[in-house]
Amino acid sequence: MTRPGTPSDALRVAIVGAGPAGFFLAERLLGKEGITVEVDMYERLPTPYGLVRFGVAPDHEKIKNVTRSFDKIAARSGFRFFGNVDVGREVTLDDLRRYYHQVCFTTGAQTDRRMDIPGEDLARSHPATEFVAWYNGHPDYRDLTFDLSVERVAVVGVGNVAVDVARMLCRTTEELATTDVADYALEALSCSRVREVYLLGRRGPLQAAFTNPEAKELGELAGADLRLLPGEVALDPLSQAELERGDDNAARKKIEILREFSRRPPTGKPRLLTIRFLVSPVELLGDDQGRVRAMRLVRNRLVEGKGGALRAEATDQFEELPADLVFRSVGYRGVALAGLPFDERSGVVPNERGRVAPGVYVAGWIKRGPSGVIGTNKPDAAETAETMFADLELSALLSPGEPAAAAAEARVRRVQPAVVTYSDWRRLDRYETERGKALGRPRLKCTTVREMLEVIRRPGP
Ligand code: NAP
Repeated sequence: MTRPGTPSDALRVAIVGAGPAGFFLAERLLGKEGITVEVDMYERLPTPYGLVRFGVAPDHEKIKNVTRSFDKIAARSGFRFFGNVDVGREVTLDDLRRYYHQVCFTTGAQTDRRMDIPGEDLARSHPATEFVAWYNGHPDYRDLTFDLSVERVAVVGVGNVAVDVARMLCRTTEELATTDVADYALEALSCSRVREVYLLGRRGPLQAAFTNPEAKELGELAGADLRLLPGEVALDPLSQAELERGDDNAARKKIEILREFSRRPPTGKPRLLTIRFLVSPVELLGDDQGRVRAMRLVRNRLVEGKGGALRAEATDQFEELPADLVFRSVGYRGVALAGLPFDERSGVVPNERGRVAPGVYVAGWIKRGPSGVIGTNKPDAAETAETMFADLELSALLSPGEPAAAAAEARVRRVQPAVVTYSDWRRLDRYETERGKALGRPRLKCTTVREMLEVIRRPGP
């Protein structure tokens, strides 16, 4: 058998998941000199871009510009988009084996990590990932409700997602009204009575997972003062030594930013955002209706952990923090995929440089875990692409019985007649941006699959 990868016998690849990792992988595969590759990208929702559409905060419009390069990748010959097709339900991995030489899963990390403390599941305690998906108009989350009639909110964690959530809660209606936040979320946030927001870090300021530009933004909110407790911003001796030992300029800058924040007097803005360090929730306390009303926090100190990293160790000092709404922002978590091995502890598909087995691969968060920014997926996808090309070289591929592009498409259309192509998506994209323009917003998102499909199928140019 000759090796595929020629114009008359293309290497046929299925990518499952249309987020950044999927697009960067497609770019790598389609850009390979001397090898003809055809990529079919499957996506459960009618819309591409994954977390760029449903994860990046609405007020971070510039970050979303990366979709322009995704559109360029999608315009390359050899690329097809099969949106609104659920791999796992409508199409199985065994189906894909029939049509492709290689299959790569770029499905991300679709759920949240848990804190595993009493009271975690009380009413008004939510995973931050759900709130993020809700305000970004994700069809599966649009009908959730968050009680924004309360005054005090606590966000557990100090990663960039926690910062996004805190910032969204503190934004004024005027600030939100120029973003692509979902229309129902704009309405709910406009009526919000939230006055105080707490961000809770279990370790110290040096170990805070947020990045410097995101930290700085917290000090520039039109409607919220920022407060840090000077005692919590002061570095403990271990952190101080770590800072002095290393040459991490970003860490130095972070401490400078936080110290400057801690010196700021309040200016009387309507909301107050407080960042706390060295505290962990040990229990969420409920009211008589089973709704969270407060959090029991333990004070931590830092001790050297395995490998020298500083970890939080609980002391015997406790405090109660009143909070009527809680967002747990302690990280995303991957979900097991049918037919693939899964490491329950780390929440990823075990792999070797992206290879799960010859012909089956992973890239992005399902490969390495939920870390890094959008751009981190580029080298990650490049590594998986190299592995895929190395396997091609060795002819270590799947053995599709029907490798013709038409056969795969026929199968998809049979199981999902409402498949969404990339030009369908561009039509929806134009509709959303035009609707947004009329309101001075970058776009007004469609937030149900039904509405999306109606717009796509509507007669017209
Ligand atoms: P993250 O960066 O891993 O942060 C998770 C936070 O949760 C950390 O502060 C962590 O503290 C804390 N945490 C974990 N378990 C905890 C527990 N049991 N109790 C208390 N705190 C706990 O994750 P993320 O915020 O979900 O973000 C995911 C990735 O997306 C990150 O790489 C992030 O930078 C990226 N992202 C980027 C942007 C942006 O560029 N603007 C926006 C959003 C997300 P420890 O450090 O002590 O473990």
